[in-house]
Amino acid sequence: MDSKIIENYETAAKVHELCRKRARDFIQPGVKLLDIAEEIEALTQKHGCGIAFPLNLSLNDVAAHYTPSEKDETRVSTGDVLKVDIGVHKNGYLVDAAITLDFAQTKETKNLITATQAALEAGFSTIQEGVEVGTIGRAIETSLRSFGVDPIANLSGHGIDEYTAHCSPSIPNVDTGETDVLENGQAYAMEPFASIHGNGRISDAGIVEIFEVNGLVPGIRNVNARKLLDFCAETYDGLPFAERWIARDLDMSAFARKTALRELVKYGALEAHGVLKEKKGAIVAQFETTMLINKGKVIRLV
Ligand code: MN
Ligand code: MN
Repeated sequence: MDSKIIENYETAAKVHELCRKRARDFIQPGVKLLDIAEEIEALTQKHGCGIAFPLNLSLNDVAAHYTPSEKDETRVSTGDVLKVDIGVHKNGYLVDAAITLDFAQTKETKNLITATQAALEAGFSTIQEGVEVGTIGRAIETSLRSFGVDPIANLSGHGIDEYTAHCSPSIPNVDTGETDVLENGQAYAMEPFASIHGNGRISDAGIVEIFEVNGLVPGIRNVNARKLLDFCAETYDGLPFAERWIARDLDMSAFARKTALRELVKYGALEAHGVLKEKKGAIVAQFETTMLINKGKVIRLV
């Protein structure tokens, strides 16, 4: 891995750390999710980095991919468990990492948080060039189960590439026995998710706030759909973006925008990253780190 590339990752990691600190200070019961997202995203740009994906703010039984809509009135409440998943990039080299904030502070939520943090460390202790992803998943699962919480089996970590938030391999949170190995010169995100009162699986909640350009496909007749696709392709660097950003950045009615988004997903020009939810009433926690393997050495960025 070129030293310039590592420098970019390290710059993104420093700004990511500022964002996490700000999140811990700023987020309190009563604060709007929308204000949190705008605060952290603006902070990323203020420090000369790009937003690698919309700030994910996933409450309680929501595991991932929730970001507020442009008129979102949701506020954090006492009793909430909130995942804050932040993406920061410098010149396309991105750091993807998450923390969970516990405003419930019950015995069981505290245990869930401790367990998920411990699982991240247990997973990290296995990281080296050539380790099989199943081995990482086994370490995460064993650690989580020792605390009496469930791993989320169908969420996983992943590789990271230039201007690419997710690439192969998957890094599972359970012992899948998969034999893909971590390679030298690569970036990876590891992200144990765990739950209580759930079933250890997530499903699509049928809500989409985050999209990504797949490609410019021919045959799209709707003028607004073409306009929106061109705009997103030019503006968001091929990285995931929020509908809220389009509402802010592009002059188009809400109706036209929603129709265009629906059409573009149908044509495969956009990928929809739907909100992922555990069973109703479950509580989900997540901790995530990004790391590099370079010259046989592991560099932990978060
Ligand atoms: Mn993440
Ligand atoms: Mn990730």
